[in-house]
Amino acid sequence: MASQETATHKYVYDFAEGNKDLKDLLGGKGANLAEMTNLGLPVPPGFTITTEACKTYLATGTEPPELADQIATHLAALEREMGRRLGDPADPLLVSVRSGAKFSMPGMMETVLNVGLNDESVVGLARQAEAAGTAGAERFAWDSYRRLIQMFGKTVCNVPGEEFEHALEGAKRAKGTSDDLGLDATDLRALVDAYKTIFVKHTGRDFPQSPREQLDLAIKAVFESWNAERAVLYRRQERIPADLGTAVNVVAMVFGNLGPDSGTGVAFTRDPASGAQGIYGDYLANAQGEDVVAGIRNTVPLQELERINKPAYDELLGIMARLEEHYQDLCDIEFTIERGKLWMLQTRVGKRTAAAAFIIAAQLVDEGLIDLDEALHRVNGDQLAQLMFPRFKVEHDIEPIARGIAASPGAAVGRAVFDGKRAVELAGQGERVILVRRETNPDDLPGMIAAQGVLTSRGGKTSHAAVVARGMGKTCVCGADALDVDVPGRKFTVAGQVVAEGDVISIDGTTGKVYLGEVPVWPSEVVRYFEGTIDPERSGDPLVSAVHRIMSHADQRRRLAVRANADTGEDAARARRFGAQGIGLCRTEHMFLGDRRELVERLILARDDAEREAALAALLPLQRADFVEIFREMDGQAVTVRLIDPPLHEFLPPLEQLAVNVAVAQERGEDVAKEEALLAAVRRMHEQNPMLGLRGVRLGLVVPGLFAMQVRAIVEAAVECAKGGGNPRPEIMVPLVGAVQELETVRAEAEKIIAEVTRERAVEVLIGTMIEVPRAALTAGQIAEAAEFFSFGTNDLTQMGWGFSRDDVEGAFFWRYLELGIFGISPFESMDRDGVGRLVRIATEEGRATRPGLKLGICGEHGGDPESVHFFHEVGLDYVSCSPFRVPVARLEAGRAVVEATGSDSR
Ligand code: PEP
Ligand code: MG
Repeated sequence: MASQETATHKYVYDFAEGNKDLKDLLGGKGANLAEMTNLGLPVPPGFTITTEACKTYLATGTEPPELADQIATHLAALEREMGRRLGDPADPLLVSVRSGAKFSMPGMMETVLNVGLNDESVVGLARQAEAAGTAGAERFAWDSYRRLIQMFGKTVCNVPGEEFEHALEGAKRAKGTSDDLGLDATDLRALVDAYKTIFVKHTGRDFPQSPREQLDLAIKAVFESWNAERAVLYRRQERIPADLGTAVNVVAMVFGNLGPDSGTGVAFTRDPASGAQGIYGDYLANAQGEDVVAGIRNTVPLQELERINKPAYDELLGIMARLEEHYQDLCDIEFTIERGKLWMLQTRVGKRTAAAAFIIAAQLVDEGLIDLDEALHRVNGDQLAQLMFPRFKVEHDIEPIARGIAASPGAAVGRAVFDGKRAVELAGQGERVILVRRETNPDDLPGMIAAQGVLTSRGGKTSHAAVVARGMGKTCVCGADALDVDVPGRKFTVAGQVVAEGDVISIDGTTGKVYLGEVPVWPSEVVRYFEGTIDPERSGDPLVSAVHRIMSHADQRRRLAVRANADTGEDAARARRFGAQGIGLCRTEHMFLGDRRELVERLILARDDAEREAALAALLPLQRADFVEIFREMDGQAVTVRLIDPPLHEFLPPLEQLAVNVAVAQERGEDVAKEEALLAAVRRMHEQNPMLGLRGVRLGLVVPGLFAMQVRAIVEAAVECAKGGGNPRPEIMVPLVGAVQELETVRAEAEKIIAEVTRERAVEVLIGTMIEVPRAALTAGQIAEAAEFFSFGTNDLTQMGWGFSRDDVEGAFFWRYLELGIFGISPFESMDRDGVGRLVRIATEEGRATRPGLKLGICGEHGGDPESVHFFHEVGLDYVSCSPFRVPVARLEAGRAVVEATGSDSR
């Protein structure tokens, strides 16, 4: 039964059988090749092996048993269509074997070109090329063969790539040429022999002559490249799930390296950096596709193609317009021209910078192609956060030392480093670094992640460095060809000036300029817009206008309110400018630092009630003034003030320091009574696990008068503001509650104080609790009896839910958990929906069951994390609260959460 089922399972799809919506199964490349084929565009014929086949291979170590036959059937059909057989000695069909996952992972996985060439078919290829009138046909055939051995050796059999490169360099040196094109057919034939020797040395076998064996091994290698180190790292960085697998596309080869009337290029239907409408791209004559993406030779702007081959250029423009209309979005395209004929090798909805994402979405609304809901869906909070990064000051007078291509915007300043390893090392020591390379390749990924920005001397907007940096939102300037980059020498030279490792440079990814030294930075226009210093209707800045339109729509659509975590009047004011609808968490502990520390010491060291009350009485007016300032800035909006949370001994000096002070003072014969008392207190209050010790509500129950003083300060401040004509809306929040009795005790005392203070002037004061101890979540039904609101403290809830010390584990061992895939992202960064999230759900449901009007919010760090905001929307909270700078991100994501929940199937 089982075998019958698997026998009918389809693992291979002809391009004519797929479509763009089958990305899960066919990967992005395969699905879009199918879509273009069905649109009647000139796509070389081929077929796609599904991600399911890959997943089976990765899980079991072998391909599904029926795969070989299915490949044979589709290969035979391809051969019929092309009128050629794979590896036919007289007239060979050659194929490329290309990876293609659901989400684009540029350059992270493998590709093998020219599969089907061997000692015999190379001669047939030369003959056919000659018959078709190719100048240098023999050279072309041998060059293709040596590329196959090189790519196959490196990719499929792990032969060190440098060995092939050394042999190629040696051949060029012997010939006295610096360019591959200086090698003729005889040289390349000799090079093929040299490559074969390298292949045997490293693999213990001859280079496979059977075309089908080449094909099968190449397919396996592409499957395996899903788990290559760089692919794993890229997925982690981009939050791409680890279990999707890659599809494999087997495509009839077309050649861009058949002479001057051939070539290859990459194009965008709009500028992926700025979003401006127009034709953007790079073209490289007489080259194969990989040469462009690798940034190995400098390309010419796509517009030049009009002069080189007008009919192909016109056809390409027509296809680009058609694709944009069809996909209703910016498309990027890879194409090849073989002896004047245009072939489409790939298209996809193109990656773009954060600014371009907003601008393009707004443009498409104007063009009537999409509506505002769809525009909102197409941008995200990470992009918005990127736009809030600073830029270089426009009017600084530092002269650039070079200028390259503005590949990925932003301002980056750091020490120049010349290899990825060093970048990771220095960044680990807290240094800001800029990775400088001639060009980057996928092995540079860890260095790119560690660096503030990337600078290369070669390659265009579509080079590896540019594509990867843009995807990560990292500043990048590439193709700064005035730089002579000397990687082994750890320096670059520009106009006679030497810049060595460690020298500070600044790169501007918006203008492409490179500076020596640190250039002053300027806040982003988007931040100035949020702060109200730029009028979006009049600024004329397309980015500000696009952000304004989309944010306004998000605000209209969202159900979640957004508050801010703010502890000072200044933060409250900023949060309000950024759109915060109140304060979800005002932590009061910072109010006990600085010169107030002394009062806390007095409180701790109090020998009797009178001394303790005196210390609290001294703190009261200071606290009241703090709250007055915050209530004024947030007038009319709710302000949740949390009573003091950390263990009191955190306000005392460290044990070692005190012990030394006492010893030194004693030595000098000074009076050490106070230090000795402090030392004794520190020893007494020492805890093995302070995070699980005397903190939060426990302090309030143990230290008489402490919470009472805070409650009085809050309510007196509110009364003072109300008397001044304001509308304060205080909410008192008790931290670390695990049992309803704790809250009831605090509440009883607080209610008395509220009644007393508000006798002269009525002010509504809510009392609620944080839900941050798992027991609180599990007994939320009881706790809601004593709480008018809950605010989830997801930092502590994650800490106690997982049993992970929040101050230690991320640096200590999370790398291993991420490597093992136990989680894809730290649960302190993004909500763990299944575990900690379940506690949130339970508390929400049971709390509301007890008290239907219970107000529910979240104030842990997750409140500003895009993914988590969607979760809180789904669970049905009333608001999220996050740091002031994340408020716009949370507003946007709260709007997106609504649109996604009601979105159409096309999303
Ligand atoms: C929390 O635990 O999520 C929280 C907001 O409180 P704190 O981070 O101050 O412990
Ligand atoms: Mg907490």
